[in-house]
Amino acid sequence: MQGEKYLFVVSGPSGTGKDTIVARLLADHPEIHRTISATTRAPREGEQDGVNYYFVSKEDFEHKLQNDEIVEHTCYCGNYYGTLRSEIERHMREKTPVILVIEVEGAGNIKRLYPGATTVFVLPPNIEELERRLRARGTEDEETIQRRLTRAQTEIANAVSYDEHLVNVEVGPCAESLYTIIQYHIQYGKE
Ligand code: 5GP
Repeated sequence: MQGEKYLFVVSGPSGTGKDTIVARLLADHPEIHRTISATTRAPREGEQDGVNYYFVSKEDFEHKLQNDEIVEHTCYCGNYYGTLRSEIERHMREKTPVILVIEVEGAGNIKRLYPGATTVFVLPPNIEELERRLRARGTEDEETIQRRLTRAQTEIANAVSYDEHLVNVEVGPCAESLYTIIQYHIQYGKE
């Protein structure tokens, strides 16, 4: 499909700082956009509907799936998450870079649907640091932290299948490296 090279998928284990990196990138480069996913997960404190996610009921999510409004979806730690078709295809048509921050299964599905998309995996400096960041966030209970740490190992094992890799030691330099990757792929990617 035309405009696939404007799609960028960013993944990384929970707590790796991928959302912070993407937020910094968008603040510094307002021409880049980020998709807002639909999820059945409850909002965390400070999260807003239509800003962080579209928070929907399980019934609403299933309805959107049936209507083909969702291009890929997954069940992550007991909740549905999905990318809305409307959130990506407009950017492909208008040739504006757009970032999807999604987990590894979704990333694989996007790459199969849109082979011209670029997948970027954000690695933590090490697993101990990942656990420290996850705990410092203070938003999850112990059981959720353990589930997310177990899942992190599987996700990191999957990182080899990504096109590009970043290690998040410091947010600013990591966001700029992501910007460089985006520029290269837009300049040299197939139309
Ligand atoms: P969180 O609950 O921490 O916001 O997100 C949990 C995981 O779901 C993260 O790895 C996040 O990137 C991923 N995620 C968020 N939205 C989507 C989506 O639309 N599709 C998929 N496949 N994963 C998503």
